[in-house]
Amino acid sequence: MCGIIGYVGGKQAAPVLLKGLQRLEYRGYDSSGIAVIEDAQIGVIKACGKVATLCEKASDGKALNGNIGIGHTRWATHGTPSDINSHPHLSADGRFCIVHNGIIENFAELKTELINHGLPFTSETDSEVIAQLLQYLYDGDMVSTLRKVMDRLSGSYAVGILCADTPDSLYAIRKDNPLVIGIGQNENFIASDFAATLEYTHSFVQLNDREIAHLTARAATFFDCNGNALKKTPYNVDWDISSAEKGGYPHFMLKEVYEQPKAIKDTVSPRVKGDNIVLDKVDFSPNNVNRINRINIVGCGSAYHAGIVGKHFIEKYCRISVNCELASEYVYSDPITDNRTLTIVISQSGETADSLAALRLAKKLGSHTIAIVNVLHSAIAREADDVLYTYAGPEISVCTTKGYTTQVAMLYLIGLKIAKVKHIISDARYLELLNELTRLPEKITEILKDINQIKQYAESYAEHKCVFFIGRNTDYAASLEGALKLKEISYIHAEAYAAGELKHGTISLIEKGTVTLALVTQEGLYSKMLSNIKAVQSRGGTVLAISSQKNKQIGEEADGLLTIPACDDDVTPILTAVVLQVFAYYVAAKRGCDIDKPRNLAKSVTVE
Ligand code: GLU
Repeated sequence: MCGIIGYVGGKQAAPVLLKGLQRLEYRGYDSSGIAVIEDAQIGVIKACGKVATLCEKASDGKALNGNIGIGHTRWATHGTPSDINSHPHLSADGRFCIVHNGIIENFAELKTELINHGLPFTSETDSEVIAQLLQYLYDGDMVSTLRKVMDRLSGSYAVGILCADTPDSLYAIRKDNPLVIGIGQNENFIASDFAATLEYTHSFVQLNDREIAHLTARAATFFDCNGNALKKTPYNVDWDISSAEKGGYPHFMLKEVYEQPKAIKDTVSPRVKGDNIVLDKVDFSPNNVNRINRINIVGCGSAYHAGIVGKHFIEKYCRISVNCELASEYVYSDPITDNRTLTIVISQSGETADSLAALRLAKKLGSHTIAIVNVLHSAIAREADDVLYTYAGPEISVCTTKGYTTQVAMLYLIGLKIAKVKHIISDARYLELLNELTRLPEKITEILKDINQIKQYAESYAEHKCVFFIGRNTDYAASLEGALKLKEISYIHAEAYAAGELKHGTISLIEKGTVTLALVTQEGLYSKMLSNIKAVQSRGGTVLAISSQKNKQIGEEADGLLTIPACDDDVTPILTAVVLQVFAYYVAAKRGCDIDKPRNLAKSVTVE
């Protein structure tokens, strides 16, 4: 959601900014703009719509000279997407220029105050108050002025700032919104995420809430909100630049689907030491584990669905009650959380505002918190008591694939670990499951070898208006994510239903030709699922079954069949997820949808 890029160094800034914005496009946006300082003047170019339009308007950067600048992709919250509302915003005197991600909650009162002081506003955005406030509060020293500005702002913000009086300096402040500082060779960057600058540097510094960054080509200095200088040690991000490029695939989504064997291997293998599971620094000593009497798993969207799959596994093997909570609901629900509750917060980006709020509440209520996060040093990773990274690499497609499956794999590891520490799983079963986990990558590869079969079914169903996904138990949990995938990228209405629940109302929607994807991977539930399939077919519905190789009968009864490799029933959701991702992908491709950037969606949802 929204992208910020800033550059100071020896290169011409505008092309670097435009390229950075292209790399940030995946986050979701509706307009964009850049600003560059040249001869102590700030030049701004903005455009509604795609970054390509901005590139055209800026003659691919040639239109603005100068070695220092800021750029922005906007995801409008206040004011329609338009050229005027696009960022960067200038102060009335043209001396200050800002790009902002987030929401300034007290913008209305600040705007009135500033207008009363004679500062005219040109846009409808909340963000413009920051530019005008800078002009109003400027005392000749930018760090001191930025402290004053932060004191007046409430809400969330990551801000990149230029000041024409200091034409060699780029500034940044942040609170509750992502921003990283890239440290290069005689050049420095600010960016919403690593992907925008990996081409130039792998060395980053984290800017924390209410801190100030002052960057020149040769120096990066940092201050807290009281003006004290801060020492920061850069960390290395070993993500490859190729991970932020399509590498020959038509879409990032498909590329990321294919990256899943590696992503799961990278997530699971370092944590399996012989027969032991070692979950980084998390203290799973018997004392700690035996204190846990409830687990809350909190997330949004697919992360929430990963939690539901995890709940089945953890409850089965650990005999601890697990609640899955939508982060946006958890915060307002007076949740049952105390110091014997383990809270697991799941977020691919680690910046999801709803999940961050839930994490903070869980901590406040005394719970120990573990974050399952993909992006290093992200807010949720930093604030949780413990963090377990999914080593999926950058996920660029808005629609998550490897992010989700690695989250599920991580929950399996946690479940197995707790079960083992509690001595409630037999050694044989533990080893069986551990072995299954480590073999998932090869089984995913097997599925992807046969991708054309999934494609054919997907294309034949691409014109349907409504698709049901049914399953029982973990298959039901997996179907939730399958339905979401299809909705997100193909815009077909899809519903996931517990198969046994269909007859309690929803079956009235089944009519001739309605497509139902039936997940049938749980051996003990084959016959029950068969009855549900028959019930759908009796109403004229068409059923495509997704089943394991060992289940021949379903194939004979259903109208179509996709098989997953033989696998332990308890970990099939990772394999069915891959099939359903591919299914959704080819439906969306056939319909000509913008797969990597579905309408109205943003990758990292940084507003509540
Ligand atoms: N609230 C600001 C606006 O509507 C910033 C939105 C964003 O994060 O892109 O312009």
